Amino acid sequence: MKISILVFGSKNFITTLPDQIRDASAFSIEVINNVNQAVSYIQITPPDIVLVQASNDGSLELCYWLKEQTKLSWIYCILLEDRPQLLAHRSDYGWEWEFEMNAIALKQGADAYIWLTPKDNRDLTMVDLTINQPLLLAQLTAGLRKAQKYRELLRTNDILSTIALSDALTELNNRRALDWELPRQIKKARNHRTSLSLIILDVDYFKKVNDTYGHLVGDRLLQLLSHRLQHNLRCQDTPFRYGGEEFVILLGNTNYDEAIVVANRLNRIVSEQPFTINNQLSINLTVSLGTSCLRAEDDANGISLLERADQHLLQAKAAGRNCAIGCKNENFFSQPISHLQVVSS
Ligand code: GH3
Ligand code: MG
Ligand code: MG
Repeated sequence: MKISILVFGSKNFITTLPDQIRDASAFSIEVINNVNQAVSYIQITPPDIVLVQASNDGSLELCYWLKEQTKLSWIYCILLEDRPQLLAHRSDYGWEWEFEMNAIALKQGADAYIWLTPKDNRDLTMVDLTINQPLLLAQLTAGLRKAQKYRELLRTNDILSTIALSDALTELNNRRALDWELPRQIKKARNHRTSLSLIILDVDYFKKVNDTYGHLVGDRLLQLLSHRLQHNLRCQDTPFRYGGEEFVILLGNTNYDEAIVVANRLNRIVSEQPFTINNQLSINLTVSLGTSCLRAEDDANGISLLERADQHLLQAKAAGRNCAIGCKNENFFSQPISHLQVVSS
């Protein structure tokens, strides 16, 4: 991957930089001299390294702003000192003053501070400065190391969160993912005043499958079932393996009536076709389902919402299995009138 550098400075300034930096095959370079444009650019396409020309208007503001952006903390900011008044003092004021200036630059948000040097010491107002190229290249290497480590960390983080939130057998989202997602969806539904429903689905007599065909066949069935469920859901529906042979499906933007339609459809797609384990073995399966729809009095974590769906699931089991049960007129804005059972055929 190409290293991206934002040069915050004038077009002329870039000519003082080493040729290696301008080598388009190794780096992608953008030059901007307006602080607002630089901020927008960094927010949209964060570069690996920002080279800041100190004499450019807004240079220190930009360094300070970058330092405050915790989500952009990998960006390496190199402040290049070319302000004539400071370069003039440098020879007069001695080391202590220079150290103080370095400390100020680092405090203001720069990761590195490099002084340019005038080619002709007698005329410091001349914009004819050189840069210590080995020092700048070494700082760029340090910045690059930081950016690469950060990218690796992001990749590892992505892998770890995928592992942490997905179920190893079915590859669906797991219970931990539900614990995280359900409060988020409830908050979203309440903020946007939209409906939210959920389904709890439990395989009927699954123990018998294990007892008859063994656990490996049971595992394969759970995989095939997960696949079938996932391929028959709408884009706003998210399935989770809740545990064992139980699944939860979150139905965004879905009221009670729609939830029961979805539950009945899932019930049908499971029972209508057997699951093919291999050439010799196909197994018929049925599921029972309970639905619930978010109410105003439900808690923010979704515990009461889950409990209601679970109660309906138990009723579906008691009603003979292979059916879906929900609660009539249950939706976000109205109180339940009565617990009418709706049992699919
Ligand atoms: P019901 O209709 O009342 O739900 O009956 P059931 O047999 O499905 O329910 P029960 O709770 O008695 O048994 C669930 C079974 O699911 C028992 C357990 O061994 C099995 N099971 C849970 N997780 C897995 C798994 O990951 N793989 C396999 N093969 N079996 C599992
Ligand atoms: Mg079961
Ligand atoms: Mg169960």
